[in-house]
Amino acid sequence: MDDEKIIGKTTPEWMPVNIVEEIVIEKVKKAAAELGGCGCDICVSDAAALALNEVSPRYVTTRKGALLQSIDSASYESLTEILVSVTKAVMKVMENPRHKT
Ligand SMILES: [Zn+2]
Repeated sequence: MDDEKIIGKTTPEWMPVNIVEEIVIEKVKKAAAELGGCGCDICVSDAAALALNEVSPRYVTTRKGALLQSIDSASYESLTEILVSVTKAVMKVMENPRHKT
């Protein structure tokens, strides 16, 4: 809780952001829809966490509030790697979802 306070107070205007995170979350939602998986917050977060542990992060310096702009600059070499990891992660979560039915 204390950490939250500190972070909130000192959020800089410019900060490093892992653009892979944004991409993975977007792709997880898409993959879950295509594969018939669950799109609830828990399943999306679980799948995104699994995928993010597998792919290399890619940080860019971003101005606060301008996150989406930098995603395009990431249409890059690791996209295939990301998609493979995302698909695997979504399928894993589908087999063993943590949400209550
Ligand atoms: Zn779910």
